[in-house]
Amino acid sequence: MFNKILIANRGEIACRVAATCKRLGIASVAVYSDADANAKHVAACDEAVHIGGSTAAESYLRIERIIEAARATGAQAVHPGYGFLSENEDFAHACEAAGIVFIGPPVEAIAAMGSKAAAKALMHAAAVPLVPGYHGDDQDPQLLQREADAIGYPVLLKASAGGGGKGMRVVERSADFAAALLSCKREAASSFGNDRVLIEKYLMRPRHVEVQVFADRHGGAVYLFDRDCSVQRRHQKVLEEAPAPGLDADVKRAMGEAAVAAARAVNYVGAGTVEFIMTPTGEFYFMEMNTRLQVEHPVTEMVTGQDLVEWQLRVAADEPLPLTQQQLKLDGHAIEARIYAEHPARGFLPSTGTLKHLRMPEGVEFAIDAAGLGEPGRKAPVRIDSGVREGDTITPFYDPMIAKLIVHGATREEALARLARALHACEVVGPHTNVEFLQRIVASEPFASGDLDTGLIERHHDALFAPGKKPFREALALACAALLTREGGTAHGASPWDALSHWRLNSGYTQTLGWRMIDDAAHDDGAAAFTVVFARNGGGQTSSQTPAQTLEHDGVREAFTWSAGAGAHEFRATIGDARVSGRVFVDGDRFHVFCHGEALAFEWQNLLAHAADAEGGEGRLTAPMPGKVIAVLVEPGAVVEKGTPLLVMEAMKMEHTIGAPTAGTVTEVLYAVGDQVTDGAQLLVLDVQ
Ligand code: ADP
Repeated sequence: MFNKILIANRGEIACRVAATCKRLGIASVAVYSDADANAKHVAACDEAVHIGGSTAAESYLRIERIIEAARATGAQAVHPGYGFLSENEDFAHACEAAGIVFIGPPVEAIAAMGSKAAAKALMHAAAVPLVPGYHGDDQDPQLLQREADAIGYPVLLKASAGGGGKGMRVVERSADFAAALLSCKREAASSFGNDRVLIEKYLMRPRHVEVQVFADRHGGAVYLFDRDCSVQRRHQKVLEEAPAPGLDADVKRAMGEAAVAAARAVNYVGAGTVEFIMTPTGEFYFMEMNTRLQVEHPVTEMVTGQDLVEWQLRVAADEPLPLTQQQLKLDGHAIEARIYAEHPARGFLPSTGTLKHLRMPEGVEFAIDAAGLGEPGRKAPVRIDSGVREGDTITPFYDPMIAKLIVHGATREEALARLARALHACEVVGPHTNVEFLQRIVASEPFASGDLDTGLIERHHDALFAPGKKPFREALALACAALLTREGGTAHGASPWDALSHWRLNSGYTQTLGWRMIDDAAHDDGAAAFTVVFARNGGGQTSSQTPAQTLEHDGVREAFTWSAGAGAHEFRATIGDARVSGRVFVDGDRFHVFCHGEALAFEWQNLLAHAADAEGGEGRLTAPMPGKVIAVLVEPGAVVEKGTPLLVMEAMKMEHTIGAPTAGTVTEVLYAVGDQVTDGAQLLVLDVQ
């Protein structure tokens, strides 16, 4: 086994690998970019080497710099994590050339799976089932048309060199094929530098089911069962579970064996995932093989009780696989939810910012106990894998994942209930998150009943995005409690003589509090701004008498008491006959309330200071996130309609189009293509008519 390895990655996966190293007594070396100088993964490793600027191209993708760091620190092997260089043949080559072990498959296996068409040819030879289709070398448009007609519509055109859901076209009718082919080839050429395409039968309501495989250098190859990753948005997985629910044992075995055959066909070594697309009737077809550890590997760890990173290290160190197929056992059910900094309601646009408050449910990090020696895998019913801490910033440079929340249960129902509870215990203040969206999917009927397919989110879009019923009145009471505490009001039962304000001898006191709901949280009656009157009848009270307090909102006056709880940010309140306790995190004038498992946010309208606020809003167009300008669609002088696209930005691998908020004339364009802009920067000036 190795004494020291370098982890050529960042974030949660770098922390994840470091945890296993620590457990096995292997020294770990982190690499980091400028933006990551104080990142959690740097602290998680024994040593760290700075490798360059904040963008991936300047740091985590610099092959030579990383090899140099491994050499300088005496690391014997490099773990690439996922993403970045994990499936890069040149990197695997460079490691080999430098005499450093690449913890991953042989270069030839990465290459064999790099092209969808070539991989399909190999899989066909190994008798692995393929989606009916055409993946030949002959790219004559007429031949392709004939092949598509023979397959039968709808068909799916894919860029052979494609990935990340790019370069795919669904073609419904023969008459549309020629145009779709041209457009697919154009996108393939510009995105991947290769316009080769393949054609597949387009399957209706398919499931994404994948198999975890492992192979060693001694002829051993096993499968560690299956995972269902059908719940996707923009072709990216959101919820993953193991085992895939509702499948017959013989289908599962056939799939596992097909996956092992796929691995053997490319002389695979290490951890790999064979992805299948499955029809509602249980036919499965090879889609692709990922030649690395997957984001969702923890669900497999939980149901097998195995540490897959340990397996990777052992195999890379030439040891045989730790267990045989017969020794591998499934235990219970595990589900993973990916918590992202993003705006689900705005097309899942990434969100950035400082994590001002971050509270995850009680759980175990990387399934390793406080002493760092715990048993891997299934011991912890709730596991949190995260690469960030409170106070860290989600930047536009990398994937905006905050954490992976993984739960285990004896059955799927138990795991589901545990996941729902765990999601309700997540508190994040700073960037927007998908926590509430995840809560809704988990509570939805199709997910709960295991009726999974890749169209689940789209098909249930309206229900998943409908305004929610939130504990508005209770949250408001807690926000008022926090505000009155901050303002120096006295808590219920405390001595009025300690109060700094608000108390009048021999008279009642009222205070009008202006509030505005923020974020997407909708108040039951849709009101966004409202006032609350806080009244305290203080006449003649002494410290032994309780002043009567009320809150009035929407013309309803209710008795109100509150007190600060034991922990930081904790409050208790009664409003009318309802009692509530929760946490209020105050960020300037924003009050983030977490109660009854829901998050609500209010902004205090300091009524004195809020006169001149709305100025200058209209014609200004500002960047909704930090990122790069990739297209400017208008010139000064352009007359635009409301909604006319003006400029396109890119951040975190996503494009975002800035449209005109209203009709007008563009008078100035302040940035050019290629410019990096900060969050809130003004991009253009629009003269409003
Ligand atoms: P990429 O490498 O770009 O991610 P994949 O081939 O892995 O492309 O496919 C991405 C997703 O597209 C799959 O997870 C599935 O949801 C959908 N998909 C792929 N092939 C088909 C098909 N033949 N029929 C229906 N949906 C498909």
